[in-house]
Amino acid sequence: HKRTLLNLSQLATSAEEAAALRYLSSKDGDAIYQTYIVDQRKTIVGLLQDFPSCQKMSLESLFALLPVLPPRYYSVASSPLHQSPSEQETDNTLTIAFSVVDYVTPSLMIAGKEEGKRRVHGVATKYLEAFCASHLAGAPAESFEMTASLPIFPKATADFRLPLDTSVPIILIGPGTGIAPFMGFLADRKGTAGSVDVYFGCRHEDHDWIYADEMKQYQQDGTISKLFTVFSRDNRSLDNKVKYVQDIMRHNEEASQRLRDILLNQKGMVYICGDGTHMGRDVQVAIAEVLGKDLGGAHEGMKAIVEMKASGRFLLDLWG
Ligand SMILES: Cc1cc2nc3c(=O)[nH]c(=O)nc-3n(C[C@H](O)[C@H](O)[C@H](O)COP(=O)(O)OP(=O)(O)OC[C@H]3O[C@@H](n4cnc5c(N)ncnc54)[C@H](O)[C@@H]3O)c2cc1C
Repeated sequence: HKRTLLNLSQLATSAEEAAALRYLSSKDGDAIYQTYIVDQRKTIVGLLQDFPSCQKMSLESLFALLPVLPPRYYSVASSPLHQSPSEQETDNTLTIAFSVVDYVTPSLMIAGKEEGKRRVHGVATKYLEAFCASHLAGAPAESFEMTASLPIFPKATADFRLPLDTSVPIILIGPGTGIAPFMGFLADRKGTAGSVDVYFGCRHEDHDWIYADEMKQYQQDGTISKLFTVFSRDNRSLDNKVKYVQDIMRHNEEASQRLRDILLNQKGMVYICGDGTHMGRDVQVAIAEVLGKDLGGAHEGMKAIVEMKASGRFLLDLWG
């Protein structure tokens, strides 16, 4: 935050460093603030390395500078009503699915020298990964001993819930870890009448489709009426046009027909969950186009989505 930079400038013993920090925190310094602080995911530690004259601060000042670590939210992937088909799960298990944030910051030229390109991990997901290390290494669930505890708290969702009437058809769209809450939904809908269409996508069928067994079983026992999957990095599943879930809607005639029938004729519901930066918007555009085939154009399709949202039939749970 710019406020942190301003506070840090007051602690710098070098006039030059203090001036640079003040500039970074000012409106004039917006552009360099973006490339040097935001894009590089600069932390307090990084700033203290780059501005060493600030290192002489007291412990109290350091604590005052540290940002509050906000909680991270994870969708519960299990249902309190039914056990998942996975044998390892017991009634008192609460399950989440997460993907470890892991990326490299952009290259940055400073005084003719290339900097940046720093590997960054997500704070919570890297910690969770270490927490599950023995499990990930293949140790059986029974031997997964808790070596540390993790404080968690529940946060109820306002409206991202199944309809009380189990005969209402639903369409669940959850690529990547967006599938998490739907695993609980599927457990709840097991043995009920309404149809359930599921759209799922990930990079590789073999290692990213973590709920493959459960979903195939739900397909077999009829809980899932229709399962549409796509694996963006598997050449074998690629026909160039179909890479993401929204491409299935556009290019698979059965998917397109079911979407129109369930939403326009049967007054079913849509749930979209997952990465909100692109997927959420792209899926809505694709649905608008598909509905537009019956309604007289994508514009009318988008109007139908707006109406469904207003009446609680089109629900989003997006993050990122
Ligand atoms: C209601 C809700 C439900 C959620 N459910 C789930 C869930 O079920 N599963 C799940 O995995 N997550 C879920 N999330 C997201 C989750 O809460 C965390 O935000 C996520 O796990 C990252 O946390 P982190 O501490 O590991 O990463 P952080 O340390 O917080 O870093 C994440 C930040 O890094 C930046 N970043 C990430 N990737 C890149 C990149 N490639 N390039 C540049 N910058 C990047 C982004 O600014 C991002 O905000 C949910 C979020 C919400 C709000």
